[in-house]
Amino acid sequence: MELLKGKVALITGAARGIGKALALKFASEGANIAFTDLVIDDNAKATEAEIAALGVKCKGYASNAADFEQTHTVVEEIQKEFGAIDILVNNAGITKDGFLIKMTEAQWDAVLTVNLKSAFNFSHAVVPVMLRQRKGSIINMSSVVGVHGNAAQCNYSASKAGMIGLAKSIAQEYGKKGIRANAIAPGFIITAMTAALSDEIKKEWCEKIPLRRGGTPEDIAEVALFLASDMSSYVSGQVIQVDGGMNM
Ligand code: NAP
Repeated sequence: MELLKGKVALITGAARGIGKALALKFASEGANIAFTDLVIDDNAKATEAEIAALGVKCKGYASNAADFEQTHTVVEEIQKEFGAIDILVNNAGITKDGFLIKMTEAQWDAVLTVNLKSAFNFSHAVVPVMLRQRKGSIINMSSVVGVHGNAAQCNYSASKAGMIGLAKSIAQEYGKKGIRANAIAPGFIITAMTAALSDEIKKEWCEKIPLRRGGTPEDIAEVALFLASDMSSYVSGQVIQVDGGMNM
C-alpha cells in the first residue's frame, strides 16, 4: 500500500541531507514532490531526477526560505504546477555556532532567519492552501537542542525551540480545520551538517546515545512518513525525538 498516494509534499532545503531522504521516502510511498533549495544546481537536479525515477512528479525550486516574498511566490508556483499542497516540511536549516558572549549579531540573525522565520514564511503561505483543502500536515524539523539547549548553540537552540512553539500554535489555531502540525527533534544525524565535527566530538556524542550510533537521514524519514500520513491522523502539536534514546 502506498501511504501517500497522489499527495503533494513540499519540502524546504531538500537537495541533500535529511530533506532529500524525506523526499525519497515520501515519493516511494506515492507522493509528488516539490522541493526548494537556495539554488537548483547539478546536485539539486540529480536529486530531482532520483526522485522522479520513482515514478512520481518532482520539481526543485530555487528559493531562499528566509525571504518572505520569495516564499510566497514559490508557493504560488508550486500550487499552479501541482494543484495542491497536502504536506509541508519546514526543513531548511543552518548552524553558525559560538558561545553566547562571542556570538555576533550576524550569526544570531542568520540562524534565526533561515531556521525559524523560514518556517513562518512557508506556513504563512501554505496554511491558506490547506484551509481550502480542509486537510494538511505540517512538520517542523526542530532538534533535540531545541528541547534541551546546547552550549555554543544558543542561536540554533533558540531557533529550534521556536519551531516547536510555531508547530504547537498552528496545531491549536487550525486543528478544527483539519490541519495537523508537529515537530521532529532529531539527535545526532550523520549529514553534511555534522560532518564538520571532529572525530572526538562524534565519539563523545555516540557514547551518550543508548543505541550507540549516530542516526541516518532515513531514520528521520521513517518518522516523518508517520507524521505526513494518515497513520498519525490523531497526532498534532507533538514533538517526536528521534535520537537513539539520547534524551529521555
Ligand atoms: P544539510 O545537509 O546542511 O542540509 C540543509 C539543506 O538546507 C541544504 O540543502 C541547504 O541548501 C538548505 N538550505 C540552507 N539554507 C537555506 C535557505 N535559506 N533556503 C533554502 N534552503 C536552504 O542539513 P541536514 O543535516 O540535512 O539538516 C536538515 C534539517 O534538520 C535542518 O533544519 C537541521 O537543523 C535539522 N537537524 C539536523 C540534525 C543533524 O544532526 N544533521 C540534527 C537536528 C536537526 P544548500 O545545499 O544550498 O546549502
